[in-house]
Amino acid sequence: MSILARLKKNRGEAPPTNTPDCAHWELGPRWANAADIGNRSLITSYSCSTCGRSFTPAEVAQRAN
Ligand SMILES: [Zn+2]
Repeated sequence: MSILARLKKNRGEAPPTNTPDCAHWELGPRWANAADIGNRSLITSYSCSTCGRSFTPAEVAQRAN
């Protein structure tokens, strides 16, 4: 968890999720423009199909480490 996320949590501003224990294994890529779909270098965000939370490509890359 990032420092920023921890601060948000301490302030009680973290967005509620239906599945707080979700491990976010099912991340689907999202594109800003329909024409970009399929181009992995243009992915704008990822969305967890289990809990619906979205992640930036940077966050997903961090999770892979
Ligand atoms: Zn999830």
